[in-house]
Amino acid sequence: MVKAMDHHQAGDGGGVSLSEAEKTLDPATEREWAELRGLGHRMLDGIFDYMQGLKDTPAWREIPAETRSALGQEPVPRSGQGAEAAYESFLRDVLPYNSGNVHPRFWGWVQGGGTPLAMLSDMLASGMNPHMAGFNAAPTLVEEQVLRWMAELMGMPAGTTGLLTSGGSMANLLGLAVGRHACAGFDLREQGLRYGQPLRVYGSTETHSWLKKAMDLMGMGTAGLRVVGVDFQYRMNLSELRAAILEDRAAGYRPVCVVATAGTVNTGTTDDLEAIADLCAEEQLWFHVDGAFGALAYWSESLRPAISGMERADSLAFDLHKWGYMPFEVGAVLVRDGKKHREAFATGASYLTAMDRGPMAGGLRFAERGFELTRGFKALKVWMTLKAQGADAITQLIEQNVEQARYFASLVEASPELELAAEVPLNVVCFRYRGADDAQNQEILVRLQERGIAIPSGTTLAGRFALRVANVNHRSRREDFDVLAKAVVKIGREVMQEAAPDR
Ligand SMILES: *Cc1c(COP(=O)(O)O)cnc(C)c1O
Repeated sequence: MVKAMDHHQAGDGGGVSLSEAEKTLDPATEREWAELRGLGHRMLDGIFDYMQGLKDTPAWREIPAETRSALGQEPVPRSGQGAEAAYESFLRDVLPYNSGNVHPRFWGWVQGGGTPLAMLSDMLASGMNPHMAGFNAAPTLVEEQVLRWMAELMGMPAGTTGLLTSGGSMANLLGLAVGRHACAGFDLREQGLRYGQPLRVYGSTETHSWLKKAMDLMGMGTAGLRVVGVDFQYRMNLSELRAAILEDRAAGYRPVCVVATAGTVNTGTTDDLEAIADLCAEEQLWFHVDGAFGALAYWSESLRPAISGMERADSLAFDLHKWGYMPFEVGAVLVRDGKKHREAFATGASYLTAMDRGPMAGGLRFAERGFELTRGFKALKVWMTLKAQGADAITQLIEQNVEQARYFASLVEASPELELAAEVPLNVVCFRYRGADDAQNQEILVRLQERGIAIPSGTTLAGRFALRVANVNHRSRREDFDVLAKAVVKIGREVMQEAAPDR
């Protein structure tokens, strides 16, 4: 060890030849390791304190001007100031101005809050730093295990393959890519889109915006997407879907895929998945389900009937960083026919050829199920959470979130000043301050957020603005919804009073 220290100091003229003074980003001496270890322990304590104290902090706070410029105008640090100083900057400038989704009264935009145990798993994963293209190593088996667990929990059959992804957008994109390749009717990967008939994909007005981006990115164009209308419950209108498919076939298009949603982002509603599965089987179309958050409701026996048919999907995309409560990022795609999955992505790059033995044995199975080559060990946090806390714990929290949403809906209905803006099929509650116009309801929303009381978000339903609570928060308690309901009424009165001060 003394020798290592000598090497490290060689650059300062310690008399050791330069070739022996090679550098690394690791601590170089026992003492440096001890220092980093000490700092690491303090970091852990610091972030645990932060998580433990969340409920006593505002749900959000504005970034002060001096912090904004400290973070926005710093030149490239050419020489380091040391880990202690960097951590001090983090504590001062970054940690206090988090985006809010970890807070017990955050219900905006469907964002999960993470967990302390999964945070630790992420740290271990980062320390191991395995390359997750595949390889003959335990982390590969861990991801495969997680994918098998997911397939089972989602009711998908043996033979299903999958991939953990950065999130729902990527998972959906991959599912659609597999479906398009499987149903194009020609070798799309080799020939490209110019070769065959123009392809058509079907979604509804409530389909999440990933689909437009994917259509564009995949070269089918947003015009290749038929946007089907919805019924009064915001479910895809099936007679309109059927008619659109017929019309497109007659006009020389090739319908390839229907994108159904389990848990829409606006209202949490689910398309009639059984009927869409039947239609896809009849018409030989790929049945893709976007279950970004809603798919997780399948884990619950009591909630499952609302999304039955999901297990018939050819491909299913969902997030674990929303209703699975995992820290960002982790989503997943499952593909019922593993062969089709691989056919959509496998390439034969010679420097990546599989060997029979050694670290490359088994090949790069994950690289052959998606677009990315180098991937992180996202599987560990899911594996460790399920082993330590169990899938049932997640399921109970999902049920708790739905009960809380119903409870909040009951508070809205009980208040003469508030009204529901849509039905509450799952964990999403859309509501308004009665008698306030769109601008006034938006003002109520922003004041709630700016004052750090709670973070709902907003949406537009049938042309009108509504506040929206999307509850995927395992830290929320009933009293948090009491706080929200009271605050909306109070701020609503304030805003109405300002609009008509004489009343
Ligand atoms: C969040 C969401 C997505 C996108 O998932 P990301 O993880 O944010 O990429 C897609 N569809 C629905 C219904 C969503 O709620």
